[in-house]
Amino acid sequence: MKQQICILGSTGSIGTQALDVIESHSDRYEVYALTANNRVELLAEQAHKFHPAAVVIANEQHYDRLKELLADEPDIKIYAGKQALDEIVEADPIDMVLTAMVGFAGLPPTIRAIKAHKKICLANKETLVVAGELICQLAIENHAPIIPVDSEHSAIFQSLVGEGDNEIEKILLTASGGPFRTFTHEQMEHVKAKDALRHPTWDMGAKITIDSATMMNKGFEVIEAKWLFDVPADKIQVLVHPQSIVHSAVQFRDGAVKAQLGIPDMHLPILYAFSFPERLTLSQPRLDLFKTPLEFFEPDLQRFRCLQLAFDAIHKGGNVPCVLNAANEIVNRAFLEDRCGFHEMSDIIARTMQRVAFIKNPTYEDYLATDAEARKVAGEYVSQASM
Ligand code: NAD
Ligand code: MG
Repeated sequence: MKQQICILGSTGSIGTQALDVIESHSDRYEVYALTANNRVELLAEQAHKFHPAAVVIANEQHYDRLKELLADEPDIKIYAGKQALDEIVEADPIDMVLTAMVGFAGLPPTIRAIKAHKKICLANKETLVVAGELICQLAIENHAPIIPVDSEHSAIFQSLVGEGDNEIEKILLTASGGPFRTFTHEQMEHVKAKDALRHPTWDMGAKITIDSATMMNKGFEVIEAKWLFDVPADKIQVLVHPQSIVHSAVQFRDGAVKAQLGIPDMHLPILYAFSFPERLTLSQPRLDLFKTPLEFFEPDLQRFRCLQLAFDAIHKGGNVPCVLNAANEIVNRAFLEDRCGFHEMSDIIARTMQRVAFIKNPTYEDYLATDAEARKVAGEYVSQASM
């Protein structure tokens, strides 16, 4: 029996690479459902190729166009809207849900998928940033495994295979450092979205590429690692590693350090999340260790203040990481559209974190309210931004 996969965000960077992986292992995997937000033409093209049972377009404005494009596919069910997207993950035949949509929007369908006992292949890190505690608790209660897709977390996960109950002494979380790694504070003052979008080693969606330029992405990944591997933040060390070859490592109590290395390419972590514990063939280029020396540096928390803010959010706990994420989504978009400057992003996030009321033990409803409130506050600051 082929494994049935639902891809949330099939038209994105992770989504399209997941479809490559499924295509090259079509004897094992089948697409059950594809979802997207706006890119209706690409979604229809994917549906023609993979013949899923269902497609969902989150933005309802594109519903008629999608129906028109798939008029020749009477067997594919076509849905539109957020509600439909949240519901599709529960479909009985689905074995795995790949969460590859961006931002807070990934939280509701991930919760639904966990409650429906699906295996979660988690790319959408914002889910764990916002509500890590709730998600982990639900995953345990519902026996829903969460397998990381993020390359660093996949590397950590791979390093832990066979370690049983051996305690993690430390996680070494690597970061490329992004396009502004060697910039001074003053140089960063003038950078624009087009500069941030030129990532030195990874080709990814726009939001995460900007998060990598501010290093908020690494802050999010510290939070993600804390929840996935049940390790306190002070045992997670960030190392700037410009070559993006060592994808991350784990240190054990005898001093052994186990890492996973490879070229910067997401096909492997996506495939591994699908096939774990088995390894399947992948014909991507191989790593050549003769080609580049491997370097490691300490991150500069003053120049990359977003990383510091993420550590602050972890220490405060409660709904603060949710505020961090929501404010970041607002400033990230504003920076992308040249509505706020590079350093203004961290300023606005910090001010939003101070303004939104603290909730120590948030419920799901508290997360929804916190997210809405933080977006509103950050949005006000953006509209006052100097640019
Ligand atoms: P992307 O922008 O390329 O694609 C996002 C996908 O999600 C698209 O299909 C889009 O239609 C859909 N989407 C976006 N917003 C939506 C919404 N509100 N409702 C429904 N669908 C929506 O993004 P990406 O780079 O593929 O990243 C996806 C997720 O994976 C992010 O959480 C990111 O942090 C994480 N991730 C990505 C990479 C990478 O290499 N791209 C690596 C690690 C983790
Ligand atoms: Mg990553």
